Amino acid sequence: MTITGQSLIGAASVPGTNGAFHGIDARTGDALEPAFGGATQHDLERACTLAEAAFDTYRETDLEARAAFLETIGEQINAIGDALIERCMAETGLPRARIEGERGRTVTQLRLFAAVLRNGDCVDARIDPAQPERRPLPRVDLRLRNIALGPVAVFGASNFPLAFSVAGGDTASALAAGCPVIVKAHGAHPGTSELVGRAIQRAVQICGLPEGVFSMLFDSGIAIGQALVADHRIKAVGFTGSRAAGVALMKIANARPEPIPVYAEMSAINPVVLLPGALAARGAAIAQPFTVSLTQGAGQFCTNPGLVLAVQGESLDAFEQAASAALANIGAATMLTPGIHANYCKGVERLAANPNVEQLASGAEGGRFDAQAALFATTADAFLAQPALRDEVFGPASLIVRCKDLNELHGVLKGLEGQLTVAVHLDAADHEACRMLLPTLERKAGRILVNGFGTGVEVGHAMVHGGPFPATTDARTTSVGSRAIERFLRPVSYQDLPDALLPAALRAANPLGITRRVDGVIDHEVRKDD
Ligand code: NAP
Repeated sequence: MTITGQSLIGAASVPGTNGAFHGIDARTGDALEPAFGGATQHDLERACTLAEAAFDTYRETDLEARAAFLETIGEQINAIGDALIERCMAETGLPRARIEGERGRTVTQLRLFAAVLRNGDCVDARIDPAQPERRPLPRVDLRLRNIALGPVAVFGASNFPLAFSVAGGDTASALAAGCPVIVKAHGAHPGTSELVGRAIQRAVQICGLPEGVFSMLFDSGIAIGQALVADHRIKAVGFTGSRAAGVALMKIANARPEPIPVYAEMSAINPVVLLPGALAARGAAIAQPFTVSLTQGAGQFCTNPGLVLAVQGESLDAFEQAASAALANIGAATMLTPGIHANYCKGVERLAANPNVEQLASGAEGGRFDAQAALFATTADAFLAQPALRDEVFGPASLIVRCKDLNELHGVLKGLEGQLTVAVHLDAADHEACRMLLPTLERKAGRILVNGFGTGVEVGHAMVHGGPFPATTDARTTSVGSRAIERFLRPVSYQDLPDALLPAALRAANPLGITRRVDGVIDHEVRKDD
């Protein structure tokens, strides 16, 4: 399949004339062909006009049609075959197995949202029937359902070129909700983006949907992405990336005459708490999976364990020695972009130069854009005194904080910013300590896990991939799992509408056959039109 370097606007391919850029071979830094033309304001205008025109039709497509559309996108992605894997490997430096796994996850996410639609619970249909006999006042007939928010802007993530990019979780959940999507393709993998974007474009055509349901713009700078967020037709934003960019987009969204939600996933250091019983019993054993979690994917996971908290002593010494020995054997791995590599090197240099920080170990050196893993240690006093030590170093680096006792460890936890995950390693003897920490952990993180690490985010119904700022800009939601659809829905109440004017989800005959809440109680009698 040919990559043209053109933006996809509705059913058309448009060569951008607003500057140009190339994809970069992550290993060598060489430019990959072809050049990608930056979208113009005119292109943006056209994409937004088409999305707005498609919205009312698309949001009222029946749940089955939308489910089939999501599945068709998955089929079209699989149909690209090896060309997608090879281009993605070149642009990201990630190995084949990882990219193939991510493709599988991308298709699984699309299928998950298809199942969510068929189930119908996302409509959240509620009926409080009229009570004309009620005294002193009769009760009105009230019916509620969720509707789509409107066209959504999605910023693809650099670190998940498939599963959190053009057809990734944000796009899948927004399309499932009934929102047209305009993707701002990430400059780190433009060829991959075009291949996937064309798969979605084909699925729109196969399913007979309005062309404005999907567009994708290449941006040679940041102006088009910013203008997209500012456009009055866009009603929500999905973003994964740096704190600086996420906050910049949030400010633009808040400054609009009509502010809109920005669901940005940004920065987390994902503390790992090693409680005394577990540390004494198996500190060295915990070190092995810790180094694997720290270094997989060159550490470029939002759930990477960038911070370890434990009480100082012989058991922690054993953990540090085992982790240092394991890390020394870890080969360097290519990072996603020269920019991300440069940021990582700066972060590691900053830690290494800090007089209150001790460098415990380094991984093997590698090529020009490879990340060399690094493990550091500091005291709780220094960590509490220097806020900069809490900054994310995106890549395979972690900082161990040696605490005098559990109370000091608790104090360090209380001082942390919001996190995506907190991992606690515990044995039965640690239950009381964990019970003491749990209220703080709940306030800090979207996911609390035991005897594991946050990397490896299950795509399911009970997953929360989110957390308080700066992990995300909205702790009430998740960007992974079926609940992600709720970000792009809003409730509407219908008071005393005649049955013939009600949306199908709320009509007396329940033609969609979905479960509904009647007077607050789930009505299991699911009926369809005769
Ligand atoms: P990024 O710089 O935040 O870029 C993400 C997207 O936002 C890109 O499409 C980028 O456009 C755009 N963008 C950047 N700054 C913007 C601004 N001021 N206004 C509007 N749009 C803007 O993230 P990245 O390139 O993926 O990686 C850079 C750093 O982000 C990493 O070193 C790491 O620290 C952090 N990061 C964190 C996570 C995480 O999950 N925690 C994930 C990825 C990255 P261009 O492509 O045109 O630059």
